[in-house]
Amino acid sequence: MRLAPGATIGILGAGQLGRMIAHAAQRMGYRVAVLAQSPEEPAALVADRVVAGALHDVAAAIELGQISDVVTLEVEHVDLDAARAAGKHAPLRPGLKALEIARDRALEKTFLRNIGERTAPFELVGSLDGLRAALTGIGCPAVLKTTTEGYDGHGQARIDDPELAQDAWLLIDERPAVLEGFLRLEQEVSVLIARGLDGAVATYGPLGNEHAHHILDVTVHPVQGLSEELAAEALATAKRVAEALDLVGLLCVEFFVTSAGELLINELAPRPHNSGHLTMEACETSQFEQVVRAITGMPLGAVDWRGPAAMANLLGDVWSNGEPRWEEALAMPGVHLHLYGKREARAGRKMGHLTALAASAAAAEEAVRRARGLLPRG
Ligand code: AMP
Repeated sequence: MRLAPGATIGILGAGQLGRMIAHAAQRMGYRVAVLAQSPEEPAALVADRVVAGALHDVAAAIELGQISDVVTLEVEHVDLDAARAAGKHAPLRPGLKALEIARDRALEKTFLRNIGERTAPFELVGSLDGLRAALTGIGCPAVLKTTTEGYDGHGQARIDDPELAQDAWLLIDERPAVLEGFLRLEQEVSVLIARGLDGAVATYGPLGNEHAHHILDVTVHPVQGLSEELAAEALATAKRVAEALDLVGLLCVEFFVTSAGELLINELAPRPHNSGHLTMEACETSQFEQVVRAITGMPLGAVDWRGPAAMANLLGDVWSNGEPRWEEALAMPGVHLHLYGKREARAGRKMGHLTALAASAAAAEEAVRRARGLLPRG
Protein backbone atom coordinates (compact mmCIF):
# COMPACT_ATOMS: atom_id res chain seq x y z
CA MET A 1 0.00 0.00 0.00
CA ARG A 2 1.23 3.47 -0.87
CA LEU A 3 1.56 5.93 2.02
CA ALA A 4 0.71 9.51 1.14
CA PRO A 5 2.47 12.50 2.73
CA GLY A 6 0.97 13.10 6.16
CA ALA A 7 1.63 9.48 7.13
CA THR A 8 4.07 8.82 9.98
CA ILE A 9 7.42 7.15 9.39
CA GLY A 10 8.78 5.47 12.52
CA ILE A 11 12.53 5.09 12.83
CA LEU A 12 14.23 2.59 15.14
CA GLY A 13 17.21 4.63 16.31
CA ALA A 14 17.84 8.37 16.43
CA GLY A 15 21.40 9.02 15.28
CA GLN A 16 22.55 11.17 12.37
CA LEU A 17 21.21 8.76 9.76
CA GLY A 18 17.77 8.98 11.35
CA ARG A 19 18.08 12.76 11.42
CA MET A 20 18.84 12.95 7.70
CA ILE A 21 16.02 10.48 6.89
CA ALA A 22 13.74 12.73 8.98
CA HIS A 23 14.83 15.87 7.10
CA ALA A 24 14.07 14.22 3.74
CA ALA A 25 10.74 12.80 4.98
CA GLN A 26 9.57 16.06 6.53
CA ARG A 27 10.45 18.01 3.40
CA MET A 28 8.06 15.69 1.54
CA GLY A 29 5.30 16.20 4.12
CA TYR A 30 5.68 13.00 6.13
CA ARG A 31 5.71 12.98 9.91
CA VAL A 32 8.54 11.30 11.73
CA ALA A 33 8.60 9.40 15.01
CA VAL A 34 11.85 8.03 16.45
CA LEU A 35 12.87 5.58 19.14
CA ALA A 36 15.54 7.50 21.03
CA GLN A 37 17.55 6.87 24.17
CA SER A 38 17.83 10.58 24.85
CA PRO A 39 15.97 13.68 23.63
CA GLU A 40 19.37 15.08 22.68
CA GLU A 41 20.05 12.45 20.02
CA PRO A 42 20.43 13.91 16.50
CA ALA A 43 17.11 12.60 15.14
CA ALA A 44 15.20 13.21 18.38
CA LEU A 45 16.06 16.90 18.02
CA VAL A 46 14.13 17.10 14.73
CA ALA A 47 11.43 14.39 14.96
CA ASP A 48 7.71 15.14 15.26
CA ARG A 49 7.38 12.48 17.96
CA VAL A 50 9.98 10.89 20.21
CA VAL A 51 9.43 7.55 21.96
CA ALA A 52 11.94 7.21 24.79
CA GLY A 53 13.67 3.86 24.93
CA ALA A 54 16.72 1.79 24.13
CA LEU A 55 17.03 -0.24 20.93
CA HIS A 56 16.14 -3.39 22.87
CA ASP A 57 13.13 -1.92 24.63
CA VAL A 58 10.25 -4.02 23.27
CA ALA A 59 7.51 -1.94 24.93
CA ALA A 60 8.93 1.26 23.45
CA ALA A 61 9.26 -0.40 20.02
CA ILE A 62 5.57 -1.41 20.21
CA GLU A 63 4.66 2.19 21.00
CA LEU A 64 6.69 3.35 18.00
CA GLY A 65 4.90 0.82 15.78
CA GLN A 66 1.50 1.93 17.09
CA ILE A 67 2.03 5.59 16.22
CA SER A 68 3.65 4.85 12.82
CA ASP A 69 2.30 3.88 9.39
CA VAL A 70 5.62 2.28 8.40
CA VAL A 71 8.71 1.51 10.49
CA THR A 72 12.29 1.64 9.28
CA LEU A 73 15.68 1.58 10.95
CA GLU A 74 18.82 3.66 10.93
CA VAL A 75 21.16 1.19 12.64
CA GLU A 76 21.27 -2.59 12.36
CA HIS A 77 22.16 -3.09 16.01
CA VAL A 78 18.45 -3.13 16.75
CA ASP A 79 17.19 -5.93 18.91
CA LEU A 80 15.29 -8.43 16.75
CA ASP A 81 12.45 -8.85 19.25
CA ALA A 82 12.00 -5.08 19.39
CA ALA A 83 11.95 -4.82 15.58
CA ARG A 84 9.53 -7.75 15.34
CA ALA A 85 7.27 -6.15 17.95
CA ALA A 86 7.21 -2.81 16.12
CA GLY A 87 6.56 -4.68 12.88
CA LYS A 88 3.33 -6.17 14.28
CA HIS A 89 1.79 -2.69 14.28
CA ALA A 90 3.13 -1.23 11.04
CA PRO A 91 5.05 -2.73 8.11
CA LEU A 92 8.77 -3.01 8.86
CA ARG A 93 10.84 -1.92 5.83
CA PRO A 94 13.49 -3.26 5.35
CA GLY A 95 12.00 -6.46 6.71
CA LEU A 96 13.18 -8.79 9.44
CA LYS A 97 15.16 -10.97 7.04
CA ALA A 98 17.44 -8.11 5.97
CA LEU A 99 17.83 -6.93 9.56
CA GLU A 100 18.51 -10.38 10.96
CA ILE A 101 21.20 -11.05 8.38
CA ALA A 102 22.88 -7.65 8.45
CA ARG A 103 23.13 -7.44 12.25
CA ASP A 104 25.03 -10.69 12.60
CA ARG A 105 28.31 -11.25 10.74
CA ALA A 106 28.00 -15.02 10.96
CA LEU A 107 24.52 -15.05 9.40
CA GLU A 108 25.60 -12.40 6.89
CA LYS A 109 28.65 -14.27 5.67
CA THR A 110 26.78 -17.59 5.58
CA PHE A 111 23.89 -16.02 3.66
CA LEU A 112 26.31 -14.52 1.13
CA ARG A 113 28.09 -17.83 0.68
CA ASN A 114 24.76 -19.65 0.28
CA ILE A 115 23.60 -17.32 -2.49
CA GLY A 116 26.94 -17.73 -4.26
CA GLU A 117 28.49 -14.32 -3.49
CA ARG A 118 32.18 -13.94 -2.71
CA THR A 119 33.58 -12.79 0.63
CA ALA A 120 36.95 -13.03 2.37
CA PRO A 121 37.66 -16.63 3.47
CA PHE A 122 36.01 -17.12 6.86
CA GLU A 123 35.21 -19.59 9.63
CA LEU A 124 32.69 -19.25 12.44
CA VAL A 125 34.28 -19.32 15.91
CA GLY A 126 32.60 -20.09 19.24
CA SER A 127 35.49 -20.96 21.56
CA LEU A 128 39.26 -20.61 21.95
CA ASP A 129 39.75 -24.17 20.67
CA GLY A 130 37.49 -23.34 17.74
CA LEU A 131 39.59 -20.25 17.04
CA ARG A 132 42.81 -22.28 17.07
CA ALA A 133 41.28 -24.78 14.66
CA ALA A 134 39.99 -22.00 12.39
CA LEU A 135 43.45 -20.40 12.34
CA THR A 136 44.98 -23.55 10.91
CA GLY A 137 42.53 -23.34 8.00
CA ILE A 138 42.50 -19.56 7.41
CA GLY A 139 46.17 -18.92 8.26
CA CYS A 140 47.77 -15.67 9.44
CA PRO A 141 47.36 -12.78 9.21
CA ALA A 142 43.68 -13.04 10.06
CA VAL A 143 41.12 -10.80 11.71
CA LEU A 144 38.69 -11.93 14.38
CA LYS A 145 35.38 -10.03 14.43
CA THR A 146 32.50 -10.40 16.89
CA THR A 147 29.31 -11.52 15.15
CA THR A 148 27.19 -8.69 16.56
CA GLU A 149 27.64 -5.10 17.64
CA GLY A 150 30.96 -4.61 15.90
CA TYR A 151 31.30 -1.42 13.89
CA ASP A 152 34.04 0.95 12.76
CA GLY A 153 36.66 -1.55 13.90
CA HIS A 154 35.15 -2.15 17.38
CA GLY A 155 35.04 -5.81 18.40
CA GLN A 156 37.90 -6.72 16.06
CA ALA A 157 41.32 -8.17 16.69
CA ARG A 158 44.02 -8.84 14.13
CA ILE A 159 46.00 -12.06 14.61
CA ASP A 160 49.49 -12.19 13.12
CA ASP A 161 50.70 -15.29 14.93
CA PRO A 162 48.65 -18.40 15.94
CA GLU A 163 50.44 -18.29 19.32
CA LEU A 164 48.53 -15.07 20.04
CA ALA A 165 45.08 -16.61 19.52
CA GLN A 166 44.24 -16.36 23.21
CA ASP A 167 45.04 -12.62 23.36
CA ALA A 168 42.67 -11.98 20.46
CA TRP A 169 39.98 -14.17 22.01
CA LEU A 170 40.18 -12.21 25.29
CA LEU A 171 40.29 -8.90 23.42
CA ILE A 172 36.88 -9.60 21.87
CA ASP A 173 35.53 -10.70 25.29
CA GLU A 174 35.25 -14.38 24.28
CA ARG A 175 32.18 -13.64 22.19
CA PRO A 176 30.91 -15.61 19.18
CA ALA A 177 32.94 -14.42 16.21
CA VAL A 178 33.95 -14.81 12.61
CA LEU A 179 37.60 -15.36 11.71
CA GLU A 180 38.46 -13.81 8.35
CA GLY A 181 41.61 -14.01 6.29
CA PHE A 182 43.32 -10.60 6.35
CA LEU A 183 43.38 -9.43 2.75
CA ARG A 184 45.80 -7.24 0.86
CA LEU A 185 43.47 -4.46 -0.19
CA GLU A 186 43.82 -2.33 -3.27
CA GLN A 187 40.81 -0.25 -2.34
CA GLU A 188 37.38 -0.26 -0.69
CA VAL A 189 34.23 0.67 -2.56
CA SER A 190 30.52 0.66 -1.81
CA VAL A 191 27.30 0.51 -3.77
CA LEU A 192 24.01 1.85 -2.47
CA ILE A 193 20.87 0.32 -3.86
CA ALA A 194 17.31 1.40 -3.24
CA ARG A 195 14.55 -1.11 -3.92
CA GLY A 196 10.90 -0.11 -4.01
CA LEU A 197 7.78 -2.04 -3.03
CA ASP A 198 7.31 -2.90 -6.70
CA GLY A 199 10.85 -4.33 -6.98
CA ALA A 200 12.21 -1.36 -8.98
CA VAL A 201 15.82 -0.53 -8.13
CA ALA A 202 18.07 2.54 -8.27
CA THR A 203 21.81 2.34 -7.65
CA TYR A 204 24.53 4.78 -6.62
CA GLY A 205 28.17 4.01 -7.19
CA PRO A 206 30.50 2.34 -6.89
CA LEU A 207 31.78 4.97 -4.47
CA GLY A 208 35.43 5.05 -3.46
CA ASN A 209 35.97 4.90 0.31
CA GLU A 210 39.06 5.68 2.35
CA HIS A 211 39.19 4.76 6.01
CA ALA A 212 41.28 6.13 8.87
CA HIS A 213 41.55 4.10 12.08
CA HIS A 214 38.78 1.77 10.79
CA ILE A 215 36.33 4.68 10.42
CA LEU A 216 35.18 5.96 7.03
CA ASP A 217 37.15 9.12 6.34
CA VAL A 218 36.58 10.23 2.74
CA THR A 219 34.22 9.08 -0.03
CA VAL A 220 34.72 10.03 -3.68
CA HIS A 221 32.54 9.69 -6.75
CA PRO A 222 33.28 8.67 -9.46
CA VAL A 223 35.57 6.08 -7.92
CA GLN A 224 39.15 6.21 -9.21
CA GLY A 225 41.27 3.26 -10.32
CA LEU A 226 38.49 0.64 -10.57
CA SER A 227 38.09 -1.21 -13.88
CA GLU A 228 34.78 -0.92 -15.72
CA GLU A 229 34.34 -4.68 -15.34
CA LEU A 230 34.65 -4.56 -11.55
CA ALA A 231 32.40 -1.49 -11.36
CA ALA A 232 29.72 -3.32 -13.36
CA GLU A 233 30.19 -6.43 -11.23
CA ALA A 234 29.74 -4.38 -8.03
CA LEU A 235 26.43 -2.96 -9.29
CA ALA A 236 25.19 -6.37 -10.44
CA THR A 237 26.19 -7.91 -7.10
CA ALA A 238 24.29 -5.26 -5.14
CA LYS A 239 21.17 -6.00 -7.22
CA ARG A 240 21.41 -9.73 -6.61
CA VAL A 241 21.88 -9.24 -2.87
CA ALA A 242 18.99 -6.74 -2.56
CA GLU A 243 16.70 -9.19 -4.35
CA ALA A 244 17.83 -12.15 -2.28
CA LEU A 245 17.05 -10.13 0.87
CA ASP A 246 13.58 -9.15 -0.44
CA LEU A 247 14.72 -5.64 0.41
CA VAL A 248 12.33 -2.72 0.53
CA GLY A 249 14.36 0.35 1.38
CA LEU A 250 18.03 1.04 0.98
CA LEU A 251 21.02 -1.28 1.18
CA CYS A 252 24.71 -0.46 1.26
CA VAL A 253 27.00 -3.21 0.03
CA GLU A 254 30.61 -2.60 1.09
CA PHE A 255 33.26 -4.29 -1.02
CA PHE A 256 36.95 -5.04 -0.76
CA VAL A 257 38.99 -4.89 -3.95
CA THR A 258 42.07 -7.02 -3.33
CA SER A 259 45.49 -6.41 -4.82
CA ALA A 260 44.84 -9.56 -6.90
CA GLY A 261 41.87 -7.73 -8.48
CA GLU A 262 39.12 -9.70 -6.73
CA LEU A 263 35.87 -8.04 -5.70
CA LEU A 264 34.66 -9.43 -2.35
CA ILE A 265 31.72 -8.35 -0.20
CA ASN A 266 32.81 -7.04 3.20
CA GLU A 267 29.47 -6.24 4.76
CA LEU A 268 25.87 -5.20 4.28
CA ALA A 269 23.95 -2.33 5.86
CA PRO A 270 20.19 -2.21 5.12
CA ARG A 271 19.90 1.55 5.69
CA PRO A 272 21.40 4.82 4.47
CA HIS A 273 25.19 4.74 4.75
CA ASN A 274 27.93 7.22 5.54
CA SER A 275 29.41 6.66 2.07
CA GLY A 276 26.14 7.92 0.55
CA HIS A 277 26.07 11.30 2.26
CA LEU A 278 27.48 13.03 -0.81
CA THR A 279 24.31 12.09 -2.72
CA MET A 280 22.57 14.96 -0.90
CA GLU A 281 24.35 17.55 -3.01
CA ALA A 282 25.59 15.41 -5.88
CA CYS A 283 22.48 13.51 -7.00
CA GLU A 284 19.04 14.30 -8.31
CA THR A 285 17.62 12.17 -5.47
CA SER A 286 19.61 11.66 -2.26
CA GLN A 287 19.92 8.32 -0.48
CA PHE A 288 17.67 9.74 2.26
CA GLU A 289 14.87 10.79 -0.08
CA GLN A 290 15.23 7.44 -1.83
CA VAL A 291 14.67 5.45 1.38
CA VAL A 292 11.57 7.53 2.12
CA ARG A 293 10.23 6.90 -1.38
CA ALA A 294 10.99 3.17 -1.14
CA ILE A 295 9.36 2.52 2.23
CA THR A 296 6.26 4.62 1.49
CA GLY A 297 5.66 2.70 -1.75
CA MET A 298 6.35 5.76 -3.90
CA PRO A 299 8.28 5.56 -7.18
CA LEU A 300 12.05 5.79 -6.72
CA GLY A 301 13.69 9.01 -7.87
CA ALA A 302 16.25 9.44 -10.63
CA VAL A 303 19.80 9.08 -9.39
CA ASP A 304 21.54 11.28 -12.03
CA TRP A 305 24.81 12.70 -10.75
CA ARG A 306 25.20 16.46 -10.96
CA GLY A 307 28.95 16.03 -11.15
CA PRO A 308 31.97 14.65 -9.33
CA ALA A 309 31.82 14.92 -5.54
CA ALA A 310 33.69 14.05 -2.37
CA MET A 311 32.70 13.79 1.29
CA ALA A 312 34.94 14.09 4.35
CA ASN A 313 33.76 13.09 7.81
CA LEU A 314 34.16 15.52 10.69
CA LEU A 315 35.07 13.67 13.87
CA GLY A 316 35.14 15.25 17.31
CA ASP A 317 38.90 15.66 16.96
CA VAL A 318 38.31 18.73 14.76
CA TRP A 319 37.07 20.52 17.89
CA SER A 320 40.16 19.78 20.01
CA ASN A 321 41.29 23.43 20.09
CA GLY A 322 37.84 24.97 20.27
CA GLU A 323 35.08 25.85 17.82
CA PRO A 324 36.26 25.05 14.29
CA ARG A 325 36.74 27.88 11.78
CA TRP A 326 33.58 27.15 9.79
CA GLU A 327 33.90 30.38 7.81
CA GLU A 328 37.17 29.17 6.25
CA ALA A 329 35.60 26.02 4.80
CA LEU A 330 32.34 27.69 3.84
CA ALA A 331 34.22 30.40 1.92
CA MET A 332 35.38 27.72 -0.53
CA PRO A 333 33.18 27.38 -3.62
CA GLY A 334 31.30 24.09 -3.87
CA VAL A 335 31.81 23.17 -0.21
CA HIS A 336 28.80 22.31 1.99
CA LEU A 337 28.60 21.72 5.74
CA HIS A 338 26.45 19.19 7.59
CA LEU A 339 26.44 18.97 11.39
CA TYR A 340 24.34 16.50 13.32
CA GLY A 341 23.49 18.56 16.38
CA LYS A 342 25.66 16.60 18.82
CA ARG A 343 26.69 18.77 21.73
CA GLU A 344 29.72 16.90 22.92
CA ALA A 345 32.64 16.61 20.48
CA ARG A 346 34.47 13.50 21.63
CA ALA A 347 37.52 12.22 19.73
CA GLY A 348 36.42 9.68 17.11
CA ARG A 349 32.73 10.67 17.34
CA LYS A 350 31.04 11.42 14.01
CA MET A 351 29.88 15.03 14.40
CA GLY A 352 29.17 15.96 10.80
CA HIS A 353 30.65 15.96 7.31
CA LEU A 354 31.67 18.24 4.47
CA THR A 355 30.79 17.69 0.83
CA ALA A 356 32.56 19.28 -2.12
CA LEU A 357 31.45 19.35 -5.74
CA ALA A 358 34.09 20.04 -8.38
CA ALA A 359 34.96 19.44 -12.02
CA SER A 360 36.74 16.14 -11.33
CA ALA A 361 36.79 13.52 -8.58
CA ALA A 362 40.40 14.43 -7.77
CA ALA A 363 39.54 18.14 -7.50
CA ALA A 364 36.52 17.37 -5.29
CA GLU A 365 38.63 15.19 -2.99
CA GLU A 366 41.36 17.82 -2.82
CA ALA A 367 38.79 20.52 -2.03
CA VAL A 368 37.02 18.58 0.69
CA ARG A 369 40.29 17.62 2.36
CA ARG A 370 41.55 21.19 2.17
CA ALA A 371 38.27 22.52 3.58
CA ARG A 372 38.49 20.11 6.49
CA GLY A 373 42.12 20.99 7.04
CA LEU A 374 41.18 24.66 7.46
CA LEU A 375 38.79 23.95 10.34
CA PRO A 376 40.88 23.19 13.45
CA ARG A 377 42.17 26.13 15.41
CA GLY A 378 45.94 26.14 15.66
P1 AMP B 1 34.56 -3.83 9.12
O1 AMP B 1 34.07 -3.30 10.45
O2 AMP B 1 34.44 -5.29 8.97
O3 AMP B 1 33.98 -3.08 7.96
O4 AMP B 1 36.13 -3.50 9.10
C1 AMP B 1 36.59 -2.17 9.20
C2 AMP B 1 37.78 -1.96 8.27
O5 AMP B 1 38.87 -2.84 8.63
C3 AMP B 1 37.51 -2.27 6.82
O6 AMP B 1 36.88 -1.20 6.16
C4 AMP B 1 38.92 -2.57 6.31
O7 AMP B 1 39.62 -1.37 6.08
C5 AMP B 1 39.55 -3.31 7.46
N1 AMP B 1 39.33 -4.76 7.33
C6 AMP B 1 38.29 -5.45 7.82
N2 AMP B 1 38.35 -6.75 7.49
C7 AMP B 1 39.46 -6.93 6.76
C8 AMP B 1 40.08 -8.05 6.11
N3 AMP B 1 39.53 -9.28 6.17
N4 AMP B 1 41.22 -7.83 5.43
C9 AMP B 1 41.77 -6.59 5.36
N5 AMP B 1 41.24 -5.50 5.95
C10 AMP B 1 40.11 -5.65 6.64
